[in-house]
Amino acid sequence: MPLPATSIDKLSDHSGAYVICVTCARCQHQREMDPRSLANILGWNTTLKQACTRLRCSQCQARQIKVEIAFNRKPRGWKSNPS
Ligand SMILES: [Zn+2]
Repeated sequence: MPLPATSIDKLSDHSGAYVICVTCARCQHQREMDPRSLANILGWNTTLKQACTRLRCSQCQARQIKVEIAFNRKPRGWKSNPS
């Protein structure tokens, strides 16, 4: 089960060993982000909440996104990278 975004305070929590699951509230597009990619831009001391304000849907550019956290496994139904 994915956890709510509030499970993470700073990006450095859990040594960055988690996955940020972003779902667009408008078009339902889903993507998965590595906290490292955010930390490279904003720094590891940035809170996840702050980082989320910078995120937008990569498909329709909407800012209405839902953020969840997953550890070591992808949430059921995840189709970001079909192979
Ligand atoms: Zn979207």
